[in-house]
Amino acid sequence: MTRYVIIGTGAAGVSAAEAIRQHDKTGEIILIGEEPEGYYSRPGLAYILTKEIPEEQLHPFEPQDFKRLGMQFLNMQATHIDSATGKVTLHDGRKLTFDRLLLATGAEARPAGVPGEKLPTGETLPGVVQLDNFANAREIVQRARKAKAAVVVGGGITALELVEGLLALGVKTHYFLRGDRYWSNVLDETESRIVEHRLQEEGARIHFNTEIEAILQKRAGLFGRGEACVGGVTTKAGDTISCDIVGVAVGVGPRLELAKTAGVRIEKGVVVDKTMQTSMSNIFAAGDVAQDFDPSTGKPVMDVLWPTARDQGRVAGANMAGVHTLYVRNIPLNVTRLAGLTTTIIGAVGGRVPDNDTIGIVRGDSETWREIPEAIAAQSNFDVNRIRLMVGEKTLLGAIVMGDQKLSQPIHQLVAHQIDITAIRGRLLAPNARIGEVIAEFWEMAR
Ligand SMILES: Cc1cc2nc3c(=O)[nH]c(=O)nc-3n(C[C@H](O)[C@H](O)[C@H](O)COP(=O)(O)OP(=O)(O)OC[C@H]3O[C@@H](n4cnc5c(N)ncnc54)[C@H](O)[C@@H]3O)c2cc1C
Repeated sequence: MTRYVIIGTGAAGVSAAEAIRQHDKTGEIILIGEEPEGYYSRPGLAYILTKEIPEEQLHPFEPQDFKRLGMQFLNMQATHIDSATGKVTLHDGRKLTFDRLLLATGAEARPAGVPGEKLPTGETLPGVVQLDNFANAREIVQRARKAKAAVVVGGGITALELVEGLLALGVKTHYFLRGDRYWSNVLDETESRIVEHRLQEEGARIHFNTEIEAILQKRAGLFGRGEACVGGVTTKAGDTISCDIVGVAVGVGPRLELAKTAGVRIEKGVVVDKTMQTSMSNIFAAGDVAQDFDPSTGKPVMDVLWPTARDQGRVAGANMAGVHTLYVRNIPLNVTRLAGLTTTIIGAVGGRVPDNDTIGIVRGDSETWREIPEAIAAQSNFDVNRIRLMVGEKTLLGAIVMGDQKLSQPIHQLVAHQIDITAIRGRLLAPNARIGEVIAEFWEMAR
């Protein structure tokens, strides 16, 4: 009987375990995860801060589901992998042998890298928070009870979730942006301004072109006798802002510490081939920790996306169970919420688009696509509705759909399946094109 050991109970690890069980009904599957919550929706953590969803709803899996699928969940941290003998060491010193191993250890927030962020012991200063896991979310909620003000740094989705979460928890929140607008490598200027305006309406104080110089420490408790904690920040421009929380979301990096002990090949992440196998034949990797290659450019790619982690996990699991399966990169798709606006980001947008492939960028607003047939489905009734299409020679390369989501699925299909849009390209690129209508008509005909 084969023993499969999976390290990490996130999207990649659990998807791999399901695939293994599908192909090998009798093999022993052991999932090792350091988080007591096991498997849950990481993207849903933001809703714990805003209290829109109770914690229980983030769990697609209960402990009994692991049992039902004949898997064992060990709530432990793995500390070392001996690839020569095929053994994983757990933090209590126990050793587990494996026939096939999956590294699905995910990614974590990078530190802000500024003075004052760490204590002399190397630990993070209490009050400096990130949003990677359940424990972080609970800590933020708890600290917000006593906090008067917070500063958040970072330019992407998680930073926004921290800002909105802290505001919802009643904390006066300053949002520092290094540049002159929000998420400029993905959003265009109008989209950035829409998000910023909505954040300001929620109460955020946005500071453009502002960076933290240092985090200031104070002593908590009566008469300042308690632990050292966040007291404020100074900015590179020389201002001081008092605060009790500093939220850091300046990017994520793969968790490689365990992979390093195994001796597998590592570049930006754990290097895998199309079967998700690492440089060692009995060790696989999937999800945020894995480094894949973009076949069109040959360049390494590190995705930090839930659907990618699930797909890679499924492929890794099948191959671990001996069923040869190749991972095919799907067009990146991210459905998220930006300042309350449902936003779908499809394929190549913003700085990710190679200039020479793009023939034009077209934009439409609610006025131009209000008359789309209801049959196409999904969400509506947003006060802001916007589509931006990256139009290539023959196909759509990418898109952003903000607000009303009626067209996000059709556009995703057009991009993902590289449907030839030559027939409508001229109409899409025409001045004042009613792009929503053009796409909707085309989709009705194409499907
Ligand atoms: C706040 C937030 C919002 C997000 N929003 C979106 C979104 O809108 N859309 C989207 O597509 N993606 C989103 N993501 C990203 C998405 O959640 C990740 O891409 C996905 O969870 C990656 O899955 P994974 O299985 O690779 O890793 P993870 O889900 O990170 O799971 C890895 C697990 O391994 C555990 N682990 C690590 N090392 C060890 C060890 N040595 N021993 C034991 N256990 C270990 C970790 O504790 C963790 O539980 C978001 C992420 C966060 C944090």
